[in-house]
Amino acid sequence: MQTINQLDALRHHISALRDAKRRVALVPTMGALHDGHMMLVEEARRHADAVVVSIFVNPTQFGPNEDLDAYPRTMERDAELLRAAGVDILWAPHATIVYPPGFASEIHVAGASNGYCGAARPGHFDGVALVVAKLFNQVQPDVALFGEKDFQQLAVIRQMARDLDFALDILGVPIVRDADGLALSSRNAYLTAEERTAALALPAALGQAAAQIRAGDDVGQTLAKASADILAAGFARVDYFALADAVTLEELQHFDGRAARLLASAKMGKTRLIDNLAI
Ligand code: AMP
Repeated sequence: MQTINQLDALRHHISALRDAKRRVALVPTMGALHDGHMMLVEEARRHADAVVVSIFVNPTQFGPNEDLDAYPRTMERDAELLRAAGVDILWAPHATIVYPPGFASEIHVAGASNGYCGAARPGHFDGVALVVAKLFNQVQPDVALFGEKDFQQLAVIRQMARDLDFALDILGVPIVRDADGLALSSRNAYLTAEERTAALALPAALGQAAAQIRAGDDVGQTLAKASADILAAGFARVDYFALADAVTLEELQHFDGRAARLLASAKMGKTRLIDNLAI
């Protein structure tokens, strides 16, 4: 595995892969890797000859009072995991390479960025779209893989790629969970042991709400009860607990049998967790 942190070196390696007609996959991450990330890598290897993983804690997707400085950084361990998984290139640029002095461009994906995490974290998806567009241009992958864990992010990226004519396939990978049901997240490292246990109320509420909605229960009442259950279990705040069209993310007040998704975000102590479940 080549670890690269300069753009000219990356371009050199990518053009060698292109010359050799190798199909290139990109897995963008912010590091602090866990089995969810490694599942994306495994899936990437099934879809390409060469796998590029990026590790970049992207400042433009963090709000002013968010955890940019505290975000876990475990570069050496991450590099070991990626090497062992057979990754070809680790692209780990410094922030000044991605956003050099004078950088001025912005991307806003209207519609898909509205509501849910977009409402709770103003500007977050602008930062995500910007960095992903840059990574697509830098790496020029044939395929890029993203986790369904960040379900709205996947919708924003699909919309952006379509709108801006990025010629690549975008694949969503199912959520990887711990054995007890909690979705893996780099931010789980912030949780105390008690918070970690109490946090199981989030996937539990999703599972229960999904079963009730499938059984025909009233959607509004089911969602209200799910939020109340989460708060009763010790979450400090529920940002949203909603039923959405699985493709457009339009919020649904009733379940009409179409592909739908429960989307939720809640704060456990100081840690904001997100999760979602297919109906
Ligand atoms: P992050 O490092 O948190 O920005 O995540 C990088 C990629 O890994 C994103 O596409 C995430 O959706 C994906 N990811 C994070 N956690 C999981 C998980 N538990 N299961 C599947 N994919 C995940």
